[in-house]
Amino acid sequence: MFTLPEPVSHAPEAPIPLCVPVIRGNEWTYVKECLDTNFVSSVGPFVDRFERMVAGYLGASHSVATVSGTSALHVALVVAGVQTDDEVVMSALSFIAPANAARYIGAWPVFMDAEPHYWQMDPDKLLDFLNNECRWRNHELRNKSTGRRVKAVLPVHILGHPCDMDPILETAHKYELTVIEDATESLGAWYKERKVGCLGDIACLSFNGNKIITTGGGGMLITESAHWARRAKYLTTQAKDDPVEYIHHEIGFNYRLTNVQAALGCGQMEKLEDYVAAKRSIASIYIKALPAIPGLTRMTEAPWAVGTFWMYTVLIDSGCFGMDRNELMNCFAKFGVETRPLWQPLHLSPAHRGCQSYRCDTAANIYRNSLSLPSSVNLSRCDQERVIGIFQKACITA
Ligand SMILES: *Cc1c(COP(=O)(O)O)cnc(C)c1O
Repeated sequence: MFTLPEPVSHAPEAPIPLCVPVIRGNEWTYVKECLDTNFVSSVGPFVDRFERMVAGYLGASHSVATVSGTSALHVALVVAGVQTDDEVVMSALSFIAPANAARYIGAWPVFMDAEPHYWQMDPDKLLDFLNNECRWRNHELRNKSTGRRVKAVLPVHILGHPCDMDPILETAHKYELTVIEDATESLGAWYKERKVGCLGDIACLSFNGNKIITTGGGGMLITESAHWARRAKYLTTQAKDDPVEYIHHEIGFNYRLTNVQAALGCGQMEKLEDYVAAKRSIASIYIKALPAIPGLTRMTEAPWAVGTFWMYTVLIDSGCFGMDRNELMNCFAKFGVETRPLWQPLHLSPAHRGCQSYRCDTAANIYRNSLSLPSSVNLSRCDQERVIGIFQKACITA
């Protein structure tokens, strides 16, 4: 006999998600305009407008909207001249997209370790690797162990914080390598007096649902090079040379963002500064409220950075803390609070096994201990107090 479960005596507290989009500006108006005018696909005024808004915000010369951040990375590598069997030195501690993008063109990632303070690509290890593990001859850098040409460096600004770009740029440019910023997690952040997205030769943004602003799904390529921007536009729109007869001289991609998505993006861009302020305020509350206890590392920002704290993350050293990060994650889950470790570092990823990595033990450590806490821009003070309360209780019982 089927019996109904016991009714719960009181409603459980609402779950708190890790990071969700917030749509509360002109998005409805702009999207409605697309629907009213029937410009729902790749033709329409919002794509240009969105590209101009983002470029204007960054103070960049060129921007090319794409269907995702991953496709922006793919095309950035192509226009930068990365070819089959070239190598791209990239952050090991990252979401997988840049490594996949390199493999799309048959190039090979070389995974670089993170530094321990802000968890970004380690500029000293990058220098060591390029100086000692590679050979510079005839304006070409070759990896001594693989014999392959090293063509680009791809630092990923993770979690809303910039990489220490000056030494990375100096090292890369010394060997005439192109620097492609993966700025997908860090739109709105500053490095010294410059905005993230304008630091390297090309930058890629993402407007996926969990990013600081969203178009549902989307991305953008940012560059000062008119030539690269033209090529990126061409390649992302099927490399069409004759719009009437459909003549193509190259194999392009359908990586276009639609007018509807761009309309959403225009509404979101208007809110970017507010969202950065909201994330920073959430971070400052976490930093103040989380106890300064052994085994707990709170995410902070470098003196040379203004981060967005896109995803507020802590490190739990189980030896000192008395509980590991998975136990803490389960603790939160019991109360309906969504938390998450960082991504498995790419040098440990089965999808990229066999790729070279350079002394990635710091990245592995950070990963093992990491836990991201709820960081949506609309996280209420009351919900954040709930998260902090659970954390504090866990610290006492640990
Ligand atoms: C989100 C993200 C991307 C791009 O993701 P899409 O979902 O393709 O827009 C690329 N790199 C990193 C590090 C990311 O976090």
